[in-house]
Amino acid sequence: MRSHLLNDTTAERYRSSVTEGVERVAARIATTSRPFTGISVDDLAPRIEAVDLDEPLHDTIAALDELDELYLRDAVYFHHPRYLAHLNCPVVIPAVLGEAVLSAVNSSLDTWDQSAGGTLIERRLIDWTAERIGLGPAADGVFTSGGSQSNLQAMLLAREEAAKAGKPADQLRIFASEVGHFSIQKAATLLGLGEDAVIVIPTDHNKRMQTVALAHELERCLDDDLTPMAVVATAGTTDFGSIDPLPEIAELCEQYGTWMHVDAAYGCGLLASLKNRHLIDGIERADSVTVDYHKSFFQPVSSSAVLVRDRATLSHATYHAEYLNPRRMVQERIPNQVDKSLQTTRRFDALKLWMTLRVMGADAIGELFDSVCDMADDGWRLLAADPRYDVVVEPQLSTLVFRYIPESICDPSAIDRANLYARKALFASGDAVVAGTKVGERQYLKFTLLNPETTVADITAVLDLIAGHAEQYLGETLDRAS
Ligand SMILES: *Cc1c(COP(=O)(O)O)cnc(C)c1O
Repeated sequence: MRSHLLNDTTAERYRSSVTEGVERVAARIATTSRPFTGISVDDLAPRIEAVDLDEPLHDTIAALDELDELYLRDAVYFHHPRYLAHLNCPVVIPAVLGEAVLSAVNSSLDTWDQSAGGTLIERRLIDWTAERIGLGPAADGVFTSGGSQSNLQAMLLAREEAAKAGKPADQLRIFASEVGHFSIQKAATLLGLGEDAVIVIPTDHNKRMQTVALAHELERCLDDDLTPMAVVATAGTTDFGSIDPLPEIAELCEQYGTWMHVDAAYGCGLLASLKNRHLIDGIERADSVTVDYHKSFFQPVSSSAVLVRDRATLSHATYHAEYLNPRRMVQERIPNQVDKSLQTTRRFDALKLWMTLRVMGADAIGELFDSVCDMADDGWRLLAADPRYDVVVEPQLSTLVFRYIPESICDPSAIDRANLYARKALFASGDAVVAGTKVGERQYLKFTLLNPETTVADITAVLDLIAGHAEQYLGETLDRAS
């Protein structure tokens, strides 16, 4: 039987197998005319159920043929200009190349003796990112699986810093805006801080944290003999792309001696922008920062990092095992990244960003992100001028939140249902994919623009499609009612 292990005798096989796979993906990508086929769970599930996992095909081509049917044909394609839903970007080719290399070599970034140069490449990229943020000479950080893990680690460090100062865990409070990411709540729960630990701060009409309210809550926290453990400023909220006022928040954190975390999972692309970097001025005052390269650096999932101002704080995540990273290695100055990470075995995701910077450069990434932000401005003007739509929040990044409103006066809950219906109908048609969210009690729709290939014509066409579906729904409901 032929060996499937990748080694010196199978290098040719590796080359031809992977090339076959790349061919299939390239063929699909070259010919997708819609972001989605609109297939339903009920149609797809039985086909995947029908595969007998105990009966291998023993043939790469046959397995790829099967995969093409089961997955590639009906996948949701983020490269399509009418995929406008979540924070998913089309990926840049140098990063995909990095992905292919890193999985074949399969370095594990936990210890030097499992990665060698990979460790140093990751460290350079952490330093590069920290420098772009402006965190100063003692900065450090580590790549993570995503923003949720980065936020968890940042909250862990903040908790341990508070504990060092003798503050009991049940008295620690975290402050985040009402449109902050739910991973902060999850982190608080995982860290045993209790469900009251996260204090939600209201936002202004642009969905930015109200710093007056933050100051008030910080004061109240002290009055109640509680400890403000961390303020989480979001630099690009998931729902609105709004950026909290970082300089004012930094001031308050300094005044109250509180850890400042900036969740820039979405807005980190501005670090590469020549034009819009100023939007995140103040980020350099953070104690920790979350960045998701897999959102606004056009990197494949996963690629994220947590950065800290003071590398010593990362030691709160340090544990030693004799078999892996014994304490003596610290004295021997052997760089073991596991000393800084919540993960042990860990992918060399950094290679994707490395290849991107080496082939394209940061300016090119920044220009891609700038262009989607510009497109959001154009989209906002379109929506604001369109009587069929109500649009909230002039975009700071690349998100548009809006809702279809009928010409005739109509019950708001019927409008909610019409918008929900339009989103579903659009998904089922496969013509475009959009997201949804609530603003107050009302149902809204959302475009997250991360594809520089999306044009004003695409936005116009998708708005017409949405209006068509919503009108059809309201027409049918009215018919039924009369
Ligand atoms: C996406 C997002 C996260 C979570 O990141 P993942 O990579 O999905 O885990 C955290 N914060 C913000 C603001 C986000 O947009």
